[in-house]
Amino acid sequence: MRAAILSIGSELTSGQTVNTNAAYLARRLQEAGVACARHLAVPDEAPVIVDAVRETLAGHHLVILTGGLGPTFDDVTASALAQATNRPLRFVPEVGRRVRLFYRAHHRRLNRLALRQASLPRGAQALPNPVGTAPGIWLELNGPAGGYHRTLVALPGVPREMRAIMERSVLPRLRRMAGRSSIATRTLRTVGLVELQIQEALRAVRIPRVMQVGLYPNLLAVDVRLTVTGGSLPSARRHLNRVERALRHHLGEAIYGQDDQTLEDVIGKTLTRNRLTLAVAESCTGGLVSDHLTDVPGSSRYLIMSVVAYHNRVKQELLGVPEATLKRYGAVSAQVASAMARGVRRCAGSDLGLAITGIAGPGGGTPRKPVGLVYMAVSDRRGTVVKRYQFHGDRLAIKSQAAQLALDLLRRHAANT
Ligand code: ATP
Repeated sequence: MRAAILSIGSELTSGQTVNTNAAYLARRLQEAGVACARHLAVPDEAPVIVDAVRETLAGHHLVILTGGLGPTFDDVTASALAQATNRPLRFVPEVGRRVRLFYRAHHRRLNRLALRQASLPRGAQALPNPVGTAPGIWLELNGPAGGYHRTLVALPGVPREMRAIMERSVLPRLRRMAGRSSIATRTLRTVGLVELQIQEALRAVRIPRVMQVGLYPNLLAVDVRLTVTGGSLPSARRHLNRVERALRHHLGEAIYGQDDQTLEDVIGKTLTRNRLTLAVAESCTGGLVSDHLTDVPGSSRYLIMSVVAYHNRVKQELLGVPEATLKRYGAVSAQVASAMARGVRRCAGSDLGLAITGIAGPGGGTPRKPVGLVYMAVSDRRGTVVKRYQFHGDRLAIKSQAAQLALDLLRRHAANT
């Protein structure tokens, strides 16, 4: 089955929005056993969309398009689909009812435009949208004498909605069409390694024919998704267990969790199990680490205090970093990170103290201390461990990477405390 991905949106063709939907769709299609042969992006202009739909349908068995399904005036996908496939739009009362219910549940006033989303090309099926109003559209097209069969799937552009419909309704159907019903999946979550290092480890592991492996990187965290298609559930579990064991052997502690577990979940569990409390002092991450830590319900049991210690005065007066240390080594230094970790631990009376200081940029770097240089330290009654990293990317990327690795430092330390 040859597939094409058609992305609709002037914000995509103008470069204002990065086309993350196409990357996600291509990866998920591949895992489902469907090869993606083409990506195409077009603006929100009905005639251009009509041409693009006709063109992609001519050369591909499956066309998945995203964007322009919403209720606003620039959302012209449904009518363009109707025109391209010569199927007039029909109001589907059941979809209209769901749109009304959604608006009521979200205390929003329904206007006439919203109900446009309930009009689908004749013969199309609506794919329920669990997180929004615009349903997905599934349309099977058969040519004369059954010589031609095409599947057209239209999904909303909002990434969260697109993914929800894809996972819930589209992928199960596609796997069945490709003869690959998924039996079991497992996601191993890693941190601190780049995609290439994981690929390297995978080369040393025997992957059974019935298993697909997908890598999903997000800065310095990469998820490894193992999917088994075909066979029985017990044999799928055996395959997953064997590959997981082999990967754990090669990747060791870099695998921090499984499936939906986050770094902060794992940290929370470890701190609770080991009856440890924590205090955090953040400079360049501006509270990002604490933000993650407090995403976990019940985190108030172990997180005693968190300080965004930006100004040197706060580092000195609140955390007790000696003025001489700041003067001699500078605020971004191993010495100051260590003193901050010790200071915040003392201040909160906690078992552990975590601190981060660095240069997030774009200004403030020097040849000796370039933008992206970050020190982080964790302190307990046995002493203080400090790490130095050189990150790359813009300010937000540097902050996110620093927060990820600070959480990772804490995770590893807490597990061995
Ligand atoms: P709605 O109009 O209800 O918001 P829609 O289906 O009409 O949904 P769009 O209006 O096309 O979707 O896009 C909604 C949001 O999703 C925009 O913020 C847009 O930037 C984002 N988006 C759309 N397409 C993509 C894409 N291919 N990759 C990443 N983001 C996208």
